[in-house]
Amino acid sequence: MCEHKPLRVTVWNEFFHEQELPEIRAVYPNGIHECLRGFLEKEQDVAVTCVTLDMPHQGITEELLRNTDVLIWWSHARQDDVTDETVRLVKEAVLSGMGLIALHSAHYSKIMQALLGTTMTLHWKHGDREKLWCVNPTHPIARGVPACVDIPEEEMYGEAFDIPKPDDIIFIGWFASGYVFRSGVTFTRGLGRIFYFQPGHEEAPVYEHPHIQRIITNAVRWARPACRREAPPQNVEEK
Ligand code: ZN
Repeated sequence: MCEHKPLRVTVWNEFFHEQELPEIRAVYPNGIHECLRGFLEKEQDVAVTCVTLDMPHQGITEELLRNTDVLIWWSHARQDDVTDETVRLVKEAVLSGMGLIALHSAHYSKIMQALLGTTMTLHWKHGDREKLWCVNPTHPIARGVPACVDIPEEEMYGEAFDIPKPDDIIFIGWFASGYVFRSGVTFTRGLGRIFYFQPGHEEAPVYEHPHIQRIITNAVRWARPACRREAPPQNVEEK
C-alpha cells in the first residue's frame, strides 16, 4: 500500500504531568496530545488519532501502527513504564516504514534507545531561554521557518548529546546559559524516517508557538512513508 490519503498521524503522549500537576494542566488543559492534534488537523489532508500511555495496551496496538503513517511520541516521567512488547511493536513499525517524531524528553525513551543504539544522554537544567537556529534551510522540515526562533522559556538541553551520527542536523539550539544542542536531527532506520526535536518542555506553552507548529507539521510530511510494508525487510535466499 502506497500513498495513503489522508496522512494518518498518531499522537502518542504519556499524559502524566498534565493530569498530575495543576501548573502543567494550566499550560495544556487537554494534554499535549490535544494541542498537537489542534494544529495538525488544520492541515486538510491530515487525520490525527490521539492515544495515551494509560489506555489499554499502553495506547499502542499492531493494528493502530499498521494504520499510522507517522507516530509522534512525547514522554518523560514514565519512560520506564513502557513495556518491551510496546517497544518491539513500534520498532518493527519504524523498520517497516512508519515515520517517527520523538519530541523533547522522548529522546531518552526506550524506543529511541532501541532504534538508535546509544544512551541518548545529555546535559540539562531547568529554566532557560533558547534561540533555535536553522542550520539547514533547504531541508523540507525547515520550509517556511525563519533563521532563528526565539523560545523565551525552555528547559536547557546541552551537548554532548550521545546520539549516533545523524543523517541531517536541521536545528541547533543556543541557550542563554551558554550551552548548545543539536535540537533537530534526522535518522533513517530500516525503511523508516525519524526526526528528533528538542523543544517542548511541559512547563511552557512551546507547542502553541506558530514556528514550532510549522516545524512539526513539516516533519510529519517529511516522515510520511513513500511506501509502507507489512513487516521489516527480511533475508532473501536467491535460488
Ligand atoms: Zn522537559
